[in-house]
Amino acid sequence: KEAHIGGYAAKVRKQLPIEDPYEELIPPVIQAKIDELEKYSDITVRTNTVVARIAGQPGEFTVTLKKPGEKIEFDVPFPLPEEMKLDENGKDLDVEKQHEVYLEYNKGRADILTIDPSGEAFGAVILAAGWRPYEPEGDEFAHLGLGSLPDVVTNCQFEEMAANGKIMRPSDGREAKSVVFVQSPGKGDDDSDFEYAGSVTSLVSLKQAKYVREDYEDGKAYIFYQHMRTPGLAENFYKSIQQDEGIFLTKGEVVSVSKNGEGMIVEADNTLLGEKISVKADMVVLATGMVPATVDDPVVNLAYRQGPSFRDIGLFDGFCDSNFICFPYETQRTGIYAAGGIRRSMTMEESIEDATGAALKAIQCIESVDRGVSVHPRSGDMSFPDFFFQRCTQCKRCTDECPFGALDDDEKGTPKPNPARCRRCGTCMGACPERIIGFADYNIDSVGSMVKAVGVPSEDDYDEPPFRILGLVCENDAYPALDMAGLNRLSFSADVRFIPVRCLGSVNVIWIKDALSQGMDGVFLLGCKHGDDYQCHFVKGSELADVRMKKIGEALTSLALEEERVTQFEVAIDDCHKLPKMINDFVEEVEGLGPNPFKGF
Ligand code: SF4
Ligand code: SF4
Repeated sequence: KEAHIGGYAAKVRKQLPIEDPYEELIPPVIQAKIDELEKYSDITVRTNTVVARIAGQPGEFTVTLKKPGEKIEFDVPFPLPEEMKLDENGKDLDVEKQHEVYLEYNKGRADILTIDPSGEAFGAVILAAGWRPYEPEGDEFAHLGLGSLPDVVTNCQFEEMAANGKIMRPSDGREAKSVVFVQSPGKGDDDSDFEYAGSVTSLVSLKQAKYVREDYEDGKAYIFYQHMRTPGLAENFYKSIQQDEGIFLTKGEVVSVSKNGEGMIVEADNTLLGEKISVKADMVVLATGMVPATVDDPVVNLAYRQGPSFRDIGLFDGFCDSNFICFPYETQRTGIYAAGGIRRSMTMEESIEDATGAALKAIQCIESVDRGVSVHPRSGDMSFPDFFFQRCTQCKRCTDECPFGALDDDEKGTPKPNPARCRRCGTCMGACPERIIGFADYNIDSVGSMVKAVGVPSEDDYDEPPFRILGLVCENDAYPALDMAGLNRLSFSADVRFIPVRCLGSVNVIWIKDALSQGMDGVFLLGCKHGDDYQCHFVKGSELADVRMKKIGEALTSLALEEERVTQFEVAIDDCHKLPKMINDFVEEVEGLGPNPFKGF
């Protein structure tokens, strides 16, 4: 986008140590990296360029590039805002009318299904669009003097000054020999660091404290922190800083920064020493965070029906990683991998490693597409959801609910599958009210047959038939947790039978209705956690199942069945010790309701 590559990495004085003994700062490596890059004749660098749209699917993305600010036919169209989908009486417009309004809204932009004949072909995309410094809103940090005292700056501003020469006070150009670094904004009970901070902001404070010592033999740096995060071998750097007699580190909450003659006074509370501390300072540096570029702009501008950006990234503060725990580098869009500050706040050194990870993922993706198989997490899966389109009602649920935006739809609302975008989660199968989506080896009938094969004890065999409870269990985390419960010899009610499913998102309510109508007394779904600390391998599966479960509750009530007969549990893979109680409590609750009245019919 800019005229030169390098970004913030090209604007620093020094970098964190990357070699044993991890104590000395090193000169920036960015120019050497750029020089190395220029030696590769098969790598093309485009500057002053942004993405107008990325269309298609992994293995065959068609990318339209343009100059920043240009308006072109292949600028990506945006989905209709919700309010534009309604008529003047607040009712939903029908599909055709909505399409008409959509075309008008995006006039001058080619539809997502139109491929740019001059577009360039790519197999996979790595998004490394980086970050920008956090911009404080209004008087957000007024108590720290930001905005009113010219010698209070952010860490980025301080770095820029340090890169330009000796550190001087911005107010009068005099030497800044006493500098206070503030790690957390100090808001009473909330001891959080600045937004978008992380270990990088701790490490940058340590690095910048060292600049003060480099510039002035009698310089003093004070670091007030609530959390000092120095992962891995960065701990050695932290220890070396602790040995410097000119750098003072203490846990504490900075409560105020005020003018004091020609300098400032910084007051901190709740320090390790248990007393208030006042420090005279020439400058104060706030360790504000790194805001990913995707907060301001979709950047990738995907020609996908679900929209040009990554969906729901607001839940993750705008970072576009799809599962922090299990799948680093992956985004919610197959074939598009994230590296560096776009994924989480991180140091340059971490970003370099990250780029390698993302590149390997991109290579895996291209190879998988070439072989016609799925990428992670169902690597190697050769099946793909089949649609029996003759019975499709164009309800768009599959297109809307697919966690990976794999389905587009045409002007009539008929889903258009993009097989290489699909991760085979089965969410579309769970969503389809017509039950016309299925895989060759996993479909409504195959699981339905398993449900039918579960025996329901009857009075023919027992004086008092035991209850029968069905558990539909996600194969990713919940099923291994059950396995571990078994390995640990943990026991629970013998009345329960389990059927593994790909993801709770793939559970079609017909299986639950079938189970209850054949006399089972209760059904539970066991899957991964949802919400902002979600662990669902397919991002939204448990969340969607939760919504569907609420709806099935209403349907059960209309059948005179208690809605408590169906429930959903969420567990982490290491929650095996919680499972017996979870399951037994549910069995007990169902027993309290009595046998299913449909039993025996
Ligand atoms: S299986 Fe999952 S990823 Fe594939 S189309 Fe269906 S919902 Fe989308
Ligand atoms: S959910 Fe089923 S009926 Fe609805 S659009 Fe998709 S395939 Fe058609």
